[in-house]
Amino acid sequence: MKIDNNTVASFHYDLADAAGNRIESSRGGQPLAVLHGAGNVIPGVEAALAGRSVGERFSVTVPPEQGYGERREGLTQRVPKKYFRDGQRLRAGDTTMLSTLDGQRVVTVVKVGQSVIDVDLNHPMAGRTLVFDIEVVAVREATAEEIAHGHAHEPGGHAH
Ligand SMILES: [Zn+2]
Repeated sequence: MKIDNNTVASFHYDLADAAGNRIESSRGGQPLAVLHGAGNVIPGVEAALAGRSVGERFSVTVPPEQGYGERREGLTQRVPKKYFRDGQRLRAGDTTMLSTLDGQRVVTVVKVGQSVIDVDLNHPMAGRTLVFDIEVVAVREATAEEIAHGHAHEPGGHAH
């Protein structure tokens, strides 16, 4: 079976930047499981997975516009410390989750004050060219429930 809309694709990946510096890897844990065509992964990875089958291993270079977007200036915001779960432990350069009107998002700490924290709302991988080494380990039809929810239900997919 080939990866197409309304299939669930499970894959392992190694992620590096354009200079070959390793950023993260799924190996050693569960493969990532995504409902294809639902935007569960960045557009560059979803496009590269289309039409692939189990056992295929390939590398794809994803520019920012197909990844997490360009870095935008002026996205620094001052937020009261109490809005951070881990506010007392944060240091400049840390990434953390912040609840916003758009839901949870990953932010980078710029500066920690007495009662406020300045954060950069750009995604930590915004503006970066990303190189994925991907190995497809499973492909199956999605269930009606997965299609309705817009994500895969299995280890490595969405946890309810
Ligand atoms: Zn669900």
